[in-house]
Formats: sequence, structure tokens, C-alpha cells
Amino acid sequence: MNLLSNRINNLSESATIRMNKLGRELKAKGIDVISLSFGETDFNTPDYIKAAAKEAIDSNYSFYTPVSGYADLRKAISEKLDRENGLKYAFDQIVVSTGAKQCLTNALLCLVNPGDEVIIPTPYWVSYSEMVKLAEGKAVFLTTGIDNDFKITASQLEESITSKTKVFMFSSPNNPTGSVYTREELAGLAAVFERHPSLYIISDEIYEHINFSQKHVSIAEFQNIKDRVIIVNGLSKAFAMTGWRLGFSASNKEIAVACDKLQGQVTSATCSISQRAALAAYNGNLDTVKEMKTVFKARRDMVFHLLSQIDGLKVNEPQGAFYFFPDVSNFFGRKTPDGDIIKTSTDIAYYLLYKAHVAVVSGIDFGDDSCIRLSYAASTDILKEAMLRIKNALSLLS
Ligand code: PMP
Ligand code: GLU
Repeated sequence: MNLLSNRINNLSESATIRMNKLGRELKAKGIDVISLSFGETDFNTPDYIKAAAKEAIDSNYSFYTPVSGYADLRKAISEKLDRENGLKYAFDQIVVSTGAKQCLTNALLCLVNPGDEVIIPTPYWVSYSEMVKLAEGKAVFLTTGIDNDFKITASQLEESITSKTKVFMFSSPNNPTGSVYTREELAGLAAVFERHPSLYIISDEIYEHINFSQKHVSIAEFQNIKDRVIIVNGLSKAFAMTGWRLGFSASNKEIAVACDKLQGQVTSATCSISQRAALAAYNGNLDTVKEMKTVFKARRDMVFHLLSQIDGLKVNEPQGAFYFFPDVSNFFGRKTPDGDIIKTSTDIAYYLLYKAHVAVVSGIDFGDDSCIRLSYAASTDILKEAMLRIKNALSLLS
């Protein structure tokens, strides 16, 4: 008899976390590994937010909080959505959770029945497909490629909808490609959703503020479908607070109440101190966020230039987030200096880790085996060195 459930046996380990772990293990052995595998900013949490957390500890914010978060935090988030995104949500439509990751899982578990279809454009963030598995849904992948900037079209979406489709989930700016849907492109998708009133849209907007091309557009801005959109966002990327574990969802009241019921049985609520820190973040200005974005843009430009010079790589220019997703399929079929044949994006990722000592993530984990993902959340010196190592290692494939 199996000790573990089919549920956990069928679940894949998070590839981003696995590659980060492997990089750390090599580092612990004294190998100088450059980690470009993890989606985590290399900035520190802004001081005014840290001060709010220290103050919260001293003021004894040490008790369980309301399941969906403190009321003043939920009000601050609803004000943020109004101020920055022009979106009206009452405070009781906001649910604060343990990271955007929990918000996404909550939404899927609250909406999806076994067998329901969840449409996910590829490439997608690694955890989406696994969260759908946990909800016993059936992921339906919509393929895109580097030549169309990794974005789906409205007609592609329309054709994929069946009587079993319950949810569409995506991120813009996108992890892993950095692609950003324009307002016109989102309007095209929204028009399709208007024709399918039983479909819900999970809009992962965690990279809202790391967008170089335009002011962020949320698909919830299309009023006719707003009630069916679940916005997911959080502190991790904008405020460099990955470890604080705080995200939020904004949705219609029925879904918000359902998420509250679910997390009331699972986590109770997220950390009280993180919530007081989040209040400072959402009531504060965006100065530190803007500074961070300027730094990311300079790095994006530099890495784009360096990657474009590597023979055999095909690169798109990401418009947001902090990743590159270059196509490495030209190297498939080539031989490593040890005589191994490179067949997949995973082979390339392991080759780069063990030969070049640069940790990246294979594209297959994001649903696209022709690419690899590199995070550029590192200093320019480290990034230059990493690009040199990658260039040299790839040039050895014959
Ligand atoms: N969505 C995307 C697209 C992400 O890249 C991440 C990674 N952090 C998350 C959600 C989860 O964020 P959090 O740290 O808030 O759980
Ligand atoms: N979202 C980040 C990434 O894509 C963090 C790791 C994770 O949560 O999977 O690398």
C-alpha cells in the first residue's frame, strides 16, 4: 500500500525551488555558482516598511488576525486599487493571504470542480499547472512562441473554450517571458470572456510595478467582465518582500467569502506582523518601487544586449517582470565536451549549472521545452559574468 496519497504523488516539485536548492548545494560545496534561477528581487525591504513591522512587534500584534486580514489593511488595499488601477472594490472583497501563491490556490480550490477545464497560456508560471492538479481540474494549455512575443490571440482563446471551461488564468507582466499584454490585446480577450458568462478569470498581477512598456492594465478594468475577474497581487515583487508572505485577492463578494472560509480551515490568516508591514506599504508612496524599476530596466537592457550576442540563442525583449526566456532549441542535438547529447531544455539547464556554474530553470517546467528562464535580479557585475559563462559554455556544444 502506498503511504502517500495520489494527490501528492502526482504533484511535481516546484522547478524554481528545485533549481535554487541545487544551486545552493553546489555553493555549500565551495563552488562559485551564480544563481539566476529564482524569481526574487535582490533589493532589501524598504526601511519605512521594516519600521512598521518593528513597531507592530513592540505593540503586541501577536494574536490571530481576522481570517481575511485586518480591516484597515483590506481598506488600504481597496484604496490602492482605486488610486493606482481605477478599480472599485469594497474592503470585504479583498482577502489577504500567505503570498500570492495562496491566493491563486484559494481561487482555484473555490472555483474548480473535478474535471473542470482551466485554460492556461504557455509559458506559464511553474505552479499554475500543479495548483490546477490539486484542485482536480484539467489544465488546457494554449501554446504561444517567441515569434508572437509569447502572447495568445483572442481567436485562440475563443477556440479553446468548451462547455467544461471554468477558469482562465494568466499573468501580465508574465513570468517567465516578461511579455505584457497591451490594453487592446486585453480588450480582445475581454470581448471573448463577455461571450462566455460562466467563465472566471484569474489575473495574476504580481509584476504590476515591474513594467517598462506602459502603465499597468488589469483585465478587471473591462467593466462588463470585472465581476468575474479575480485579481491576485502582493508584496513579494513590488516591495521586495518575498519572505514576508503576503498577497491579496480582489474579487466578487461570493468568491471572497469562499476564500475566507477555505483559509479559515487551512492557515487561519497570514502573519500579523507582515500585515502591519503591508499596511505601511500600501499606504506609502511608490518611490522605492520606481527606483527598483529603473535599476531593473537598465539590467534588462544590458542583459538583452549580451544575450543577443550569443550565437544560437533567440531572445525576445521582455517588457516587464525580471526574466529572460531565450529559445535554446538550436542547441538540441549538439554534443557537450563530455560527449552527452543535449536533447531538452532540462539538459541545457543542467549543463549550464554543472559546467558554467550558472543556475537557470528549464523551459519545460513553464510548459515550453524550447526555452530556458534566467532571472536578472542580480547586480550588473554578476549578470555580466553569468552571460560570459553562458556564452562560453554554449560555444563548447558541437
Ligand atoms: N505569481 C507569479 C507569476 C510569480 O512569479 C510568483 C512568484 N513569487 C507568485 C505568483 C507568488 O508570489 P508570492 O511570493 O506572493 O507567493
Ligand atoms: N515566483 C518565483 C519564481 O518564479 C519564486 C519561486 C517560487 O515561488 O516558485 O522563481
